[in-house]
Amino acid sequence: MGQLEGKTAVVTGGGTGIGLAAAVRLAAEGAHVFITGRRKAELDAAVETIGSAGATAVSGDVSNLADLDRLYDAVRARGRGLDVVFANAGTASFATLEQTTAEHVDQIFGVNVRGTLFTVQKALPLLTDGASVILNSSVRAGDGVAAFGTYAASKAAIRSFARTWANELKGRNIRVNTISPGTIDTPGLDGVVGTEGASVTKSQFAAGIPLGRIGRPEEVAAVVAFLASGQSSYILGANLYVDGGEKQI
Ligand code: NAP
Repeated sequence: MGQLEGKTAVVTGGGTGIGLAAAVRLAAEGAHVFITGRRKAELDAAVETIGSAGATAVSGDVSNLADLDRLYDAVRARGRGLDVVFANAGTASFATLEQTTAEHVDQIFGVNVRGTLFTVQKALPLLTDGASVILNSSVRAGDGVAAFGTYAASKAAIRSFARTWANELKGRNIRVNTISPGTIDTPGLDGVVGTEGASVTKSQFAAGIPLGRIGRPEEVAAVVAFLASGQSSYILGANLYVDGGEKQI
């Protein structure tokens, strides 16, 4: 019997990378997982991997409020409430302060900050007593990596939200926590390190990590499953690092 038997979960950005690994793991623990993202083909492939008994795909953009409404309409129609939200969808690209445009800020903050806020706000009517909300920040929230300032600021905002929302929702016995992954091997990382302006390669990243390697999405998913379950019942408003020691030693 899994730790999330009979539970319902939402994972944004659940078609690839960390979100996909989390959706697979939450379903393996017994949850029915609603996954969302903009690309239908990736979502369909994810449902195929998980099995349609364990997952439902609702394509959409987290920065679009109507799309979030459609997602939660689908959850509501299932009629079993909502026990876990993993607000994971995010985007990253490089621009120095001098290069930063209004479009760049709107894009990164629109998905990472506004998207996360409304993903959680619109879940509120459905969240059950004892529900767990997990936000995906990043170790970069505390960094000053050149040309990554807008992304870092967006992830710092997420860590901040978790503190406030944990306080606001504790009366409903809803726990809000943040995870801060280090460098994790995902399509998203490939997109960032392969682009102009990227100052480091994957092997350079690995050299700076005490465990000597970048992380696997499944290693982040294990922490998401822990925070989603009653095993973490006394953890509230926390920020759990999943970074191979990068920011710890
Ligand atoms: P990924 O494979 O690119 O996953 C990102 C997912 O988010 C994709 O499935 C993407 O699907 C979805 N997404 C992006 N914009 C969206 C939007 N507007 N609406 C709905 N879904 C959207 O990369 P990842 O590395 O797993 O990233 C997942 C999260 O982890 C992000 O928040 C990222 O910042 C965070 N993170 C990653 C690392 C790392 O090293 N990989 C480290 C720290 C934090 P569509 O494109 O189909 O919409």
